[in-house]
Parts: sequence; structure tokens; C-alpha cells
Amino acid sequence: MNTTSHDTTSPAIETGEDYPEIREGVRKVCSGFPGAYWRALEETLSYPTEFVRALTEAGYLGALIPEVYGGSGMPLRAAAVILEEIHASGCNAGACHAQMYTMGTVLRHGSEEQKRRYLPEIASGRLRLQAFGVTEPTTGTDTTKLKTRAVRDGDAYVVNGQKVWTSRALHSDLMLLLARTTPLEDIKKKSDGLSVFLIDIREAIGKGLEIRPLKAMVNHHATEVFFDNLRIPADSLIGQEGKGFKYILDGMNAERILVSSEAIGDARWFTKTAVAYVSERRVFDRPIGQNQAVQFPIARAYAEAQAADLVLRRAAARFDAGLPCGDDANMGKLLASDATWHAAEACLQAHGGFGYAREYDVERKWRETRLFQIAPISTNLVLSYIGEHMLGMPRSF
Ligand SMILES: Cc1cc2nc3c(=O)[nH]c(=O)nc-3n(C[C@H](O)[C@H](O)[C@H](O)COP(=O)(O)OP(=O)(O)OC[C@H]3O[C@@H](n4cnc5c(N)ncnc54)[C@H](O)[C@@H]3O)c2cc1C
Repeated sequence: MNTTSHDTTSPAIETGEDYPEIREGVRKVCSGFPGAYWRALEETLSYPTEFVRALTEAGYLGALIPEVYGGSGMPLRAAAVILEEIHASGCNAGACHAQMYTMGTVLRHGSEEQKRRYLPEIASGRLRLQAFGVTEPTTGTDTTKLKTRAVRDGDAYVVNGQKVWTSRALHSDLMLLLARTTPLEDIKKKSDGLSVFLIDIREAIGKGLEIRPLKAMVNHHATEVFFDNLRIPADSLIGQEGKGFKYILDGMNAERILVSSEAIGDARWFTKTAVAYVSERRVFDRPIGQNQAVQFPIARAYAEAQAADLVLRRAAARFDAGLPCGDDANMGKLLASDATWHAAEACLQAHGGFGYAREYDVERKWRETRLFQIAPISTNLVLSYIGEHMLGMPRSF
């Protein structure tokens, strides 16, 4: 007999709804962008301009920008809640989430002049900083070996190289770029000699910058970016030359926490959708959800998402308190991406053939949520962090 009582004050997956007003506000914005909106965008590979505009106008995309630069200066946890609710509503923040964490590099390491020039414009939505160029086709996760070069020439840098999977570059005004400024053979530590630049795409396009769309499994506006003797002003450099890898690493915990919150939101959507469907759908004269073989995978994924959510909340609390949070950010990323994938699988399977019907949105969300196993960091790389840095096992690369 099951002797534990269910806590009826905590419905579904909400572990106590922190920031209830933000959640309510985001849900309200998202209610104007139902599944049909996202399906239509996929048909034409279009960018959700109206959705991004609505979020910007409501102030959500400037959540992390300090008030002095025109944002609302909220903690990371508030931004995580915004992204979670977007995904729990069936929408997708992939078109605009990068702004939240790439902006952090400018905020933490940019000059006062750069902050004053860009942050208020980004907060108002007049400028989009949505493109983040790190990944390269031939070096992959081995970031310090990246080959894109930026060479100082008078009052400019000349950039040559190639990036791949640079999301949203065709829908962004600015791009944060990681490039090598000192050749690998001239440095002692391989993480030295990389630099971060803020490139004005509008100025650069056609003058050494070419962006080509990349067709992908999801409508993520991924591109390939080519630099061919692109001259950018020397003041495009963020912080000190050669310290760029550290700056990017600084932002990665925030990025992992934020992106994992989207995974939690997806897990909530899959759970809610699956529960509703299996309770309604009747086969063999009873709801399919009465069969425990259908129920259990949904129940298991729900429990996994709850656990992931708690680790992520701890990660965000540590980040907001200025404490080291890499361990929780990495574990939270691993747990959240697994939880949402299991929830997606359970939901798709429970829908039978209808799981494949576009109009149910299950297959779209299933494709979208698979991405968390790969980007922004793949599962194996997170496991290697836990194995090596947290557990002290031998370094593998
Ligand atoms: C839709 C989409 C959007 C993206 N957006 C961006 C973006 O905006 N900006 C950007 O810079 N990048 C972006 N990326 C790139 C993404 O961050 C990378 O794809 C990801 O980090 C993995 O790198 P890779 O593809 O080069 O894989 P690789 O490094 O080639 O790895 C391939 C596989 O091998 C595994 N592997 C590699 N080395 C090891 C090892 N030592 N031990 C165990 N396993 C290992 C990996 O875990 C992975 O599963 C995006 C990718 C996608 C698909």
C-alpha cells in the first residue's frame, strides 16, 4: 500500500513558483504565440520576429542588464524563470536567449564606453546581440585549438577564419567572436592568446564577412560564418587581448544554468501534455494512462526533472551570491537535459502515431529538446568535468 500522501499544495512540476509575477507575465506573452505560430515559422525557416519583439517590449530580454544601462537588473534566477516559462508554454527561447548570456561578457569585461554604447541599445531592443561565434568546423569542442585569427594592423584587427553553427547570425546586429590573436606555438598555456571581439555585423557584411544559413533539424537559424580579411576597428576588442578564453569561461556557468532552465520548461510541457493525452485517449475501453507501462516513464521523467530543477536552483542561488557554481551548473545541465529527453520520449511514445503528427507539436518539441544533449556543451564533456574536476579522476584531455 502507498502510505505517503501527495502534497496537493504543489501541483505538477512547480517546486514552489518563485517569481510568480514574472511567470504569469511570461505566460501571458506566450499565450499569443501558440503551436500554429511555431509550425508556420518552421515551414518557411523564419525567425520569430514578433515573439522576440513582444518579449523585448515586456522587458524580459533585458532582465540581466543593470538598471543603470537600461535593463531591469534582475538576478540570474529571474532570467532562468523567464526562459523556463517560455519553454513550459510550448514556445522556444532559442531565437533570443543568447542575448541574456553573451551580454554578460560585455558587462563584466567591456570598457565603460562599450557598456554605455551597447547595453542600453540591447536592453531597448534597438540592437540585437544574438550571435556568439565559438564553434569551428575542424576543431569542435577543443576550443583552444580554434583557427580563426585576428591580427592587429594599426587601428584595426584583420580577421580570417570560419565558424560553424553560429546561431541567429543572420538575425543579429552584433556578434561576439572568439578568435586567436597569438599563435598557439608562441604561448605557454593553450588557453592564452585568444581574444573576444564585438563585431558589428551590419558594418562587416559584404566587406570580408559572409554568413550562410545552415539547414538543421530544428529552426534554430544556425549559420556558417566566413571571415576573409575582415577589418574591424581595434576598439571591437573586449577586455584585454589574449584573455578571451577566460572571459568566455566566466560566462559559461550562467549560460548552462539558463539553457538548462529551458530544458526544465520543456520537461514540464512534455509532462503536462503527456498526462493530458494519456488520461483522455481510450484504447481497449480504458484510458491508456491506466496502463502502468504508459504511466511509469512519464512519472520517472517527472521525478528526474524535479531533481534537476533543485540542483539548478542551487546553482543559480550560488551564482547570484557570487559563490563558485560550476559544479551545480554542470550537474544541473546534465540532469536537466536527461530529464527533458526522457520526458520527450515518454510523451512521444504515449501519443502513438499522433506523436508524429505535426499539429500536436510533440514531434517539434521532441526535436528541439534533443539539442540540449549537444549544445551549448555535449553530455560527455559535462561528464568529464564531473569526473575530473569534482571527483579527481585522471584527466583525459
Ligand atoms: C542547433 C545548434 C546551434 C548551435 N549554436 C551555436 C552557437 O550559436 N555558437 C557556437 O559557437 N556554437 C553553437 N553550436 C555548436 C555546439 O556548441 C557544438 O555543436 C557542441 O559544443 C559540440 O561540438 P562539436 O559539434 O564540434 O562536436 P565535437 O567536439 O566534434 O564532438 C562530437 C561528439 O564527440 C564527443 N566527444 C568529443 N571529444 C570527446 C572526449 N574527449 N571524450 C568524450 N567524448 C568526446 C562529444 O561529446 C560529441 O558528442 C550549436 C550547435 C547546434 C547543433
